[in-house]
Order: sequence, then C-alpha cells, then structure tokens
Amino acid sequence: MNKFSFGLILFLILPILIILSIDNDPISDTTRFMFITEQNEMLNGTLHLTDLSLPIIGGEVLVNNSYIYYLDVSDNQLKLKSNISAEFEKNEISLTFNLNLSNNDSKTDILSVLIDSKEFEIETFDNYRFASSTIKYRYEEECTWVQSTRLEDAIEILETETVLNFRETSGKPDLYIHCYDYSVETDDGIRLGEGSPRFYEEISRTIINSSINLYSRTDAVYCVNYPATEIHEILHALNFCHLADTSSIMHPGIGGDVCPELDEAIIECVADIYSNQKGCQGMKFILN
Ligand SMILES: [Zn+2]
Repeated sequence: MNKFSFGLILFLILPILIILSIDNDPISDTTRFMFITEQNEMLNGTLHLTDLSLPIIGGEVLVNNSYIYYLDVSDNQLKLKSNISAEFEKNEISLTFNLNLSNNDSKTDILSVLIDSKEFEIETFDNYRFASSTIKYRYEEECTWVQSTRLEDAIEILETETVLNFRETSGKPDLYIHCYDYSVETDDGIRLGEGSPRFYEEISRTIINSSINLYSRTDAVYCVNYPATEIHEILHALNFCHLADTSSIMHPGIGGDVCPELDEAIIECVADIYSNQKGCQGMKFILN
C-alpha cells in the first residue's frame, strides 16, 4: 500500500479583525497597508485586488489608490471598487483575510490591520484520526449482496460499540470502499480484504481519506456469523495495525474458525482518540 502525504495548505476565508485608522490626512495618491500580529510579527504575503496582486513584504504594501477606489462624480467622493483580501502563509497554513474597507478609508493613507496569530494555529491530534467522528463512506464499485450486507453489518456494530458514526455519501468520502469479485493470493493465504489510510496530513495528524478493499472468492473462508474481516479492514482504515494477540480482531489471521469480536481495548482506544485523550496502550498504528 503506497502512502502519500502532502504539505498542509488550508485555504480559509476569515473576516478581518480590526482596522485602525492611524492617519486622517486628506486624500492621498496611495494607501500603505500595514499588517501586524498582536505579537508584532510582520507577515509576508500577497494583497489581492480585483485585477492585481501585490506582494506584502515585512507586513507592508503600498497600493495606488486607483486600484482601490473610483471617483464617484455624483458627489465627488472616492468609493471602494471591490473587495480586497490579504493572503498570508505561516506554519504551512495559508489564510486569506478579507479587508472590509469603507469609503471613509480613502481619507487615510495608512491602514493598519491587526492579524490574530492564533488563526495560524491548528488543532493537532495525539493520534492520527479523521477530523470528525462521523465518517462518510462511498462505494466505488458495485458490491455483491453478500459484500454490502456484511459491510453494513460491520458498520452497524462499529456504530453501536464505538463513538463513531458512519454516513453513506455520494460526495467526497472519508472512506472509499472497493469491492472485487476476485481475491488476492499471498504467501500467508487468501487475502479477504485490505484497508489503510491513503491521504493524511502530518501537522494536524489528520487522516484525509482511507480505503478498504473487499475481495470475494467462493473458496475463501469468511467468519459466517460475524463480519470480522469487514470490521478488521475498517479498523485498518482508521489507522489500526495488526496485533499478535489471536483473540484480537486485528490479528492478521482472522477468518475461518478464528472470528474474534471487536476488542474492548479497541473500543476504548477509539473513544480516547476521538475525544483527544491519551490512551490506547498496547495498540499498534499504521501511521505514527
Ligand atoms: Zn489486516
């Protein structure tokens, strides 16, 4: 299973915080924007106007007023042309702030904008997890009746036993479900399924999406009365790794006569992870 990661770039639109008018000079030709955090950091970024993007260097950018205002001939006043936004990158997070200027700002040649540095902090989880405990899933192929019934049973058990909820979606899922009408033979025997996180984000330790593969083969020996394989694969998708304990559902050799039910320790571990608490002793994870 190939694992991919990508650098975090979050695009958030945030309302602007405070605009302080420093100066009250008559109309000037330019406006100097000064961006500063409450910790006096002078950020670098980009100022976006309608037809123009200008670099913000050391927290400052000088803009010709013709890009910001137009002269309203009806009252001979400068009026705002359109929205202006400032984009800053910090901690590998890119944030865009809309500057809510008013027509009165044309009377000021320096506009100081306070940026809240806390906006650049993101929640970091102790363990890799999905951002939400409600996991959206989508079937990528048509599954057989047996495959989808077993999977829905697995989901029902996980919803009943753990803090997680699952919702089928036609939109962008957290969990991709692939069904195949064949099986993969390995040195260890016939593989009944596979599961793993696919895309994840390292800074916040968030799983962006995961996938499971469910294989089908008439001579494969599934657990008849309990969807152990399906729960096992979903737990892989939730980042759980194999355990050597044969009484665990995460033992690699489940199937046939070895059909353990969902471990109490895993139920508790899921609760710890999704309430951002430490715990999960004895568990192994795919992403650490
Ligand atoms: Zn496995």
